[in-house]
Amino acid sequence: QERDKLYQELVSARENLEVKTEELTRLTRLDPLTSLLNRRALTADLNKLITLIKRKYVPLCFVLIDIDFFKPINDNFGHEYGDEVLIKLAAVLKGVVRESDLVARWGGEEFIVILPKTAESEAKELALSLLETVEAHTFRLRKNRTVKLTMSCGLSQLLQGDDIEDLLKRTDKALYSAKKSGRNQLVTI
Ligand code: GH3
Ligand code: MG
Ligand code: MG
Repeated sequence: QERDKLYQELVSARENLEVKTEELTRLTRLDPLTSLLNRRALTADLNKLITLIKRKYVPLCFVLIDIDFFKPINDNFGHEYGDEVLIKLAAVLKGVVRESDLVARWGGEEFIVILPKTAESEAKELALSLLETVEAHTFRLRKNRTVKLTMSCGLSQLLQGDDIEDLLKRTDKALYSAKKSGRNQLVTI
């Protein structure tokens, strides 16, 4: 009987550990500020996706997003307000994209949206609605502060022979060009 009891305890300790490990694994995939996927988790998912695509081609588009003039928000209001904007913006972005799209925090004030099974024309529509939604949104922060902002977007679709790095490079170039051309706009390359 004593042995049975010990065995039961062991089983339940092990189950506990499994639950905790799962929770930890989930957490290591998330950006602690915005709770979006982090860059590392996204990269891992992309590598899986590209393996699938190599087997059977499906269209795929990337949209890289960078907040316009974000630094002045930190400088004028304080870093905590900047953080709050990032958290709220993440929720706005998630609200626009579809269930099957991935949104991740790519860097400080940069986000990436991955649109699987999406052709360029459809991706453009989605990216434009991201821009429009954010431009129309008023961010309501602590102490009744409000902030308006715009973003710049670069879009590119997976071409034959591309690996993820090629696609990322083009998307980044498109974003750079959106910034250069005056911000608050989408550029597709
Ligand atoms: P641009 O339109 O050229 O993108 O202008 P910008 O001001 O957005 O660009 P810049 O690269 O000069 O500044 C980005 C700022 O983002 C600087 C940095 O302090 C801020 N930032 C990055 N990560 C975080 C974060 O986690 N929290 C806060 N509050 N600010 C962050
Ligand atoms: Mg930036
Ligand atoms: Mg910026």
